[in-house]
Amino acid sequence: MILCKTVEELRNEIAIAKTAGKTIGLVPTMGALHEGHASLVKAANQENDVVVVSVFVNPTQFGPNEDLDSYPRTLDADCKLAEAQGADIVFAPSPKEMYPSEDMTWVEVTGDVTKVLCGRSRPIHFRGVTTVVSKLFNLAQPDRAYFGQKDAQQVQVLKRMVKDLFFNLQMRIMPIVREADGLAKSSRNTYLSAEERQAGLILSKSLKHAQELFAAGEHDPQKLVAATTAMIKAEPMADIDYVEIYQMPDLNECPNPMQGENLLALAVRFGKTRLIDNTILEVK
Ligand code: AMP
Repeated sequence: MILCKTVEELRNEIAIAKTAGKTIGLVPTMGALHEGHASLVKAANQENDVVVVSVFVNPTQFGPNEDLDSYPRTLDADCKLAEAQGADIVFAPSPKEMYPSEDMTWVEVTGDVTKVLCGRSRPIHFRGVTTVVSKLFNLAQPDRAYFGQKDAQQVQVLKRMVKDLFFNLQMRIMPIVREADGLAKSSRNTYLSAEERQAGLILSKSLKHAQELFAAGEHDPQKLVAATTAMIKAEPMADIDYVEIYQMPDLNECPNPMQGENLLALAVRFGKTRLIDNTILEVK
């Protein structure tokens, strides 16, 4: 496996792969890799000749009071995990390498898809994500790019960007990987105390409850939101940021009764740690 730290090094490796007619799979990450990331690398390895994993804690997607400085950075372990799952290249640039100048070009998706949910709590977040992912797409020139359904809104924003900017690649979305007790795997889970981690189980439990109500015929989005909210509020350590349902794919307001595919998404704080989780509710 090759570790590239500069744009030039990555470009050279991509040129070699392209000249040899090889297909490229890209897995963008912020590092502190876990089994959720591993599932993306594994899928990329099965479907492409060359797998590029980027490890970059992207400063432009963090707000001023967020965890940019404390975000876990574990490059050696990340390289080992990526290699074990079949990565050929790890691209781990410095912030200066990705953003050489303070004057820069932004890529921004507008509309409900970036305004609701995390877009409301983290106003500059998605502009940072779409900008850095555009740069990574231009550098790695992937045939396929791999993302996790764990970040459901990010997936919808990036799909929109790929469509609108005619990026010539396939978006591959992988299911949420969870701990045995249901907690969605996340690099931020390491921030949780033992009590917070236990309390965090309320996310997957409340989503399961909502799925059961939905399966039993409850298609009123307000009632589903109310039931999910009540369950989370009963957990004293949980501080709700949002519990909302929007219509897929562009996260527009949900009709009542619900139709087609809908996203039930949660963001909840446990102490200083903000966790997200979600499920799709589909009216067939
Ligand atoms: P991050 O390093 O948190 O930016 O995540 C990089 C990619 O891994 C994103 O596409 C995430 O959605 C995906 N990912 C993170 N956690 C999980 C998980 N538990 N299951 C599946 N994919 C995940």
